[in-house]
Amino acid sequence: MASLDKAGADPALDAPTRTIMTQAAALLRATITQKHWALLRYRALFDAVPDPVSILSEDGTVLDLNKAGMTAYKRPRAAIVGKNINVLNPELPHDHMTPVWEALNRGDTYVIEVTNMRGDGTRFPVEVHSANFVFDGRKSLVAVARDLSKRREAELRYRELMEVIDKGILVQNSARDIVYANRAAMRIFGIGEGKRLADELQLDRWRIVDEHGHELSSEALPAHRALQTGQVVESMLMGLYHRQSKQLIWLTVTSVPQFAPGGEKPAQVTSIFSDVTALKRDSALFDRAQSLAHIGGWEWDTGRDLVYLTDEAIRILGALQPPANIEEMLSCLRDPDRRRFRGAMQKVVDTGGGFDLELQGSRDDGHPFWIRVIGEAEAGDPSTSRITGTLQDISADKRAEETLRIQARTDPLTGLMNRDAVLNELGTRLIDPVHANVALLYIDLDRFKTVNDVLGHSAGDELLMQAAARIQGAVGTEGLVARFGGDEFLVLCDTSGDAEQPEHLADAVLAAFADSFRFDKDEFAITASIGISRAPEDGVRPQQLIQNADIAMYDSKHRARNGWQAFTPDLARRQQDRLQIETQLRRAVDNNEFRLVYQPQVDLRRGQIVAAEALIRWQNHQLGELRPDLFISHAETTGDIVRIGSWVLREACRQVREWHDMGLGIVRVAVNVSYRQFAGEDLAENVRAVLAEYELPGAALELEFTERVLIEDAPATLKTFAELRALGVLLTIDDFGEGYSALNYLRRLPIHGLKLSQLFTEGVPNNRSDVAVCQAVSAIARSLGLGLVAEGVESEAQRQFLLQLGVPVGQGFLFAPGLTPDEFASRLRSPEERVSNG
Ligand code: C2E
Ligand code: MG
Ligand code: MG
Repeated sequence: MASLDKAGADPALDAPTRTIMTQAAALLRATITQKHWALLRYRALFDAVPDPVSILSEDGTVLDLNKAGMTAYKRPRAAIVGKNINVLNPELPHDHMTPVWEALNRGDTYVIEVTNMRGDGTRFPVEVHSANFVFDGRKSLVAVARDLSKRREAELRYRELMEVIDKGILVQNSARDIVYANRAAMRIFGIGEGKRLADELQLDRWRIVDEHGHELSSEALPAHRALQTGQVVESMLMGLYHRQSKQLIWLTVTSVPQFAPGGEKPAQVTSIFSDVTALKRDSALFDRAQSLAHIGGWEWDTGRDLVYLTDEAIRILGALQPPANIEEMLSCLRDPDRRRFRGAMQKVVDTGGGFDLELQGSRDDGHPFWIRVIGEAEAGDPSTSRITGTLQDISADKRAEETLRIQARTDPLTGLMNRDAVLNELGTRLIDPVHANVALLYIDLDRFKTVNDVLGHSAGDELLMQAAARIQGAVGTEGLVARFGGDEFLVLCDTSGDAEQPEHLADAVLAAFADSFRFDKDEFAITASIGISRAPEDGVRPQQLIQNADIAMYDSKHRARNGWQAFTPDLARRQQDRLQIETQLRRAVDNNEFRLVYQPQVDLRRGQIVAAEALIRWQNHQLGELRPDLFISHAETTGDIVRIGSWVLREACRQVREWHDMGLGIVRVAVNVSYRQFAGEDLAENVRAVLAEYELPGAALELEFTERVLIEDAPATLKTFAELRALGVLLTIDDFGEGYSALNYLRRLPIHGLKLSQLFTEGVPNNRSDVAVCQAVSAIARSLGLGLVAEGVESEAQRQFLLQLGVPVGQGFLFAPGLTPDEFASRLRSPEERVSNG
């Protein structure tokens, strides 16, 4: 009984068996103690046990068998009871009871797996648990058999599974001998058919390393640790380097310790492993690619607030200590960017999705950086417990971008803001109510073109650089200086503190130009003309403000250079007129809007007409009749004067031919020629062609040009003069004395005469300085052998004075204003004014 009790409690048995044996023991105990009346009940209970239970004598004779036994063995009780147990198992050796009794006598239970035979000859596996028993006062044993067919099938299926699974499985006993390895294990280790796994896996054939390449001792291997600690060792990455084949395989290994029933120490260990060699290589490549591209990876475990960063990410952030939580990670960012990042993360947490941000920060060593951070909730994570992403160092791109941005905003020559940038800046200020009190200085250098033409472009560039520096120095921090175009600069300033600020700045800039500019040995006095416009009075759009400042500048330049002028509505009106004139002027020749009047040049002594000056008149449907003073300078600015001038030349010659054909004799006609006509190549050719067309001698034509021609000194000028003179055309300097009065060109140029400006005629005989100029001019003409015509003779006193001075010819209202061709013809017909060729 004691042994049965012990067997029933034996912890080495599995729970159902223990239960069964406990039940059986209790059953039999009851049976024996209450033999007489309980026999029936014993039978019933014995038969109620669901597993086959047999009672064997010491020599193996079956003393009793329960109902489950008969069912399992498919035999009647009589075919078994009283027979030796080997009727159920013919393969048992004849001394099979010896080890059974040895164990039972030691007080152990005896467990054996055997294959029993049914009455129909079929077999099935059983596990038999035997225990001491006393039956009818005799030493015997009770054997409980458990049908293992189902378990075997399951085991078989399990084995099959182990064989087809693509993970390697290795089972080792407590001595770490390999007891099982599946096919995948053989494949992963590269062990061919016929090789013994135990040999192949001998530790001295391999060098085993951890993920950082440090060699692992055999104690550190996961199977060993699982056996040692009884704990599962999970997903350990290790590299196995086969010393002979020089191959490295990377495995992730999970080792699970297994305990025998009731055992405290693991009886065996099952290691499951995958070959991650390719994966590891890919991820190594990936890591490398990432670090080459300066891309790091990051992951934020939102629940636990843990941050994981790849090595590259840590390098990019320049953190000395890898940040452990999100605030630590954010601490390297600039304040506004930290908020942006935090906000973006919160949005992902709240609503999912992702973000892509460019952020600025600085490393622990203070080095600033730009990063691009992309993040999103981990796919398939409904609770957004993880946000993952990449982190890219874009500092270099940003620096390049910044350089480009600066370059795009900067004028390369002067280093000032360029046109686009200042337009942008002005636009931004004008829409910002805080900065809307902006004023503009439009600065144009006077005579820049002359320096550029005379000294060449590199001197021109030098001048612009010096001018830029002077303007910048004058403006200081009170305004923003930009180069707007060729020799034009803009200054933006704020008038909210001081309404006069622009005027003060204009004075400062003009003062900065007081000293002359120096290039090598040359010195140039360069001045500036400045126009001022202010918002909102003079405009609220950049273009409008600039245009109005330009109008003011233009006005300033035309009145007196080296000054400033603030914009006024009146200037705008004049500008408007100017624009209108220029627009109309463009079409005037084609529309036949010009005509010529002819003012006689008269012999001052005898009163006879010696020549006629052709003066242009413009009749426009919108503007009415315009005198040349109002439009010639515009035509010169736009260049339209060249076409107009050709028309005048041709018309004047045509008129002379007509008068001649009318029998009025050839009158010399004087035509005014603009400096712009001299700049072209074809003035002489044009003149030749027109004279030929109307069959006029060169002497029938006189060209009047101003000193401007000499100042501009276009390359072809001298040649043109020579050619015109060769044609016999007379060349006269108009308005002499008004202009630049450089006398030396009078000697240099092949001219015939001078016209004394009416500015001086006007003052004679009373104004002493005018008298002095007239005397000087007449003396010059005489000494150089040049003809002289006095303009603007309005009074008899003037005529008398000029006659006394020896001026032979005069022109003026005293004789006639500009006359229509008909009027002029009738003057020619009257006997007193007949043409004098003297
Ligand atoms: P200019 O060549 O000096 O012409 C003389 C100007 O003085 C003319 O004015 C004429 O009408 C005016 N005038 C004549 N006698 C008197 C006088 O006794 N008193 C006063 N106060 N003025 C007198 P206009 O016709 O208005 O021409 C002005 C200027 O326009 C001319 O000055 C000339 O420089 C220019 N101009 C005229 N026609 C042409 C042309 O066909 N081509 C070019 N390029 N310029 C022209
Ligand atoms: Mg003239
Ligand atoms: Mg004149």
